[in-house]
Amino acid sequence: MPEEIHVGDVIRTKKKHPCGSDQWTVTRNGADIKMKCEGCGRVVMLDRETFLRRRKALLVRGTGDTFPLPPVPDRTDA
Ligand SMILES: [Zn+2]
Repeated sequence: MPEEIHVGDVIRTKKKHPCGSDQWTVTRNGADIKMKCEGCGRVVMLDRETFLRRRKALLVRGTGDTFPLPPVPDRTDA
């Protein structure tokens, strides 16, 4: 499972939300991840580590922001 996270990702968590849904949409991406429950609309914020631990499956790949990764040095002229 890639650790890449995009805004708009729809994921399934290991544990169901009390409302019965186990699907969440990522609404904010960064050092902390905000995700909205597809069942009841509740928004929670998790740090990336917790988010990745709870994520069981990626259902839909979002097209929004990814968290900026460290820049890769441009060595094409080497
Ligand atoms: Zn819910």
